[in-house]
Amino acid sequence: MRLRLYDNLVRAQQTAQYLTQHGIAVKMFPLEDAGFARPRFELVLATRRQRARAEEILGEYEQESMVPETDWEEQSVPDLSRLDPNHCAVSCAACGASLPHDLDMTQCPECQAPYDLVERILEVHGPDALLDAFDEEGVDANAIVDAFDWHCERCDASLLSMPRRDRCPSCGNLYDKDEMFRKDFG
Ligand SMILES: [Zn+2]
Ligand SMILES: [Zn+2]
Repeated sequence: MRLRLYDNLVRAQQTAQYLTQHGIAVKMFPLEDAGFARPRFELVLATRRQRARAEEILGEYEQESMVPETDWEEQSVPDLSRLDPNHCAVSCAACGASLPHDLDMTQCPECQAPYDLVERILEVHGPDALLDAFDEEGVDANAIVDAFDWHCERCDASLLSMPRRDRCPSCGNLYDKDEMFRKDFG
């Protein structure tokens, strides 16, 4: 189920990481076009069961992040060296000159038109191209599968500290957390 919709990739990414670190399984999906002026990023919750807890954690997080953190900006800067420049080449919107992949540059070297490299990559290549540039630590599937409070599909017993694949300690039902993850996240 949809939890939040963001128009800011960094914000969506940070929130997803925060929730995952608190044991809430979320996944971020870029919504391309769909009539939006800017790309949107959707945070999707694995199961309704975690909704109340997720809202609680989000409430805390949203309040906390109102307070500017000194290293917030630094953490949020995408690592463009992780992008393949051949796949993310961008040109100046004004004159068509190719733009260097350098976050410190703010003006086209040819015509001096101002640009924002991250914005430009988003415009030209869409949000998917940029996802690679963020450290995905904390939102990778393994971390989610391990952190998530899975419940037995038959009797609803918690499988939290259980191995990935085993039998439910209450009813003996065979489960596979990886499989449940795939089912929930499609
Ligand atoms: Zn230019
Ligand atoms: Zn069970």
